Amino acid sequence: MLNDDIEKVLITEAEIKYKIHELGGIISNEYSGKDLVMVSVLRGGVIFMADLVRSISIPVTIDFMAISSYGPSTDTSGVVRVLKDLEENINDRHVLIVEDIIDTGLTLSYLLRSLKAREPAGLDVCVLLDKSARRIVDLPIKYKGFDVPDVFVVGYGLDYRQKYRNLPYVGILNKSVYEEEWANL
Ligand code: 5GP
Repeated sequence: MLNDDIEKVLITEAEIKYKIHELGGIISNEYSGKDLVMVSVLRGGVIFMADLVRSISIPVTIDFMAISSYGPSTDTSGVVRVLKDLEENINDRHVLIVEDIIDTGLTLSYLLRSLKAREPAGLDVCVLLDKSARRIVDLPIKYKGFDVPDVFVVGYGLDYRQKYRNLPYVGILNKSVYEEEWANL
């Protein structure tokens, strides 16, 4: 699907599909015989989660959380508000957090701390995109899809002002999109 607002496709639909198939195989093996709960963070992580669970061949429970950061979106204080908590009790279960992207790592670090307090049997992270250049807190990432450079990406769950989440690939937005918005302010 071509989109005029996209300057460049960074990761194609086929590359994502292949990687998810690979990750699904590894996760199925490593969690075989365990009570696996996969937790996705709304809204960005949902597309990745939906594809990933379908490449997993063992029984799995899925659950969702919604969080929002305090203050403006550019503020990376790491203080987040839980808008929707898990429905599942994760005590003594193997939790795998499924995230779209890790940037500074502040959001995930908060999530990990909050879920760890519930004493799961295991707590690991599976992330599609790793923007490690901007990392502030070091995080244990067990499963990773792709490394991305320090650019703002959209597509495959990731948005710019709630748009572009439905693109089947990950791409870089045209500068004209921001410039138009600024001009209209
Ligand atoms: P962190 O707390 O790791 O800095 O930020 C994680 C969140 O910031 C992600 O879940 C995502 O919502 C947002 N984010 C970080 N980098 C990007 C990006 O390149 N594109 C988009 N659309 N969101 C991003």
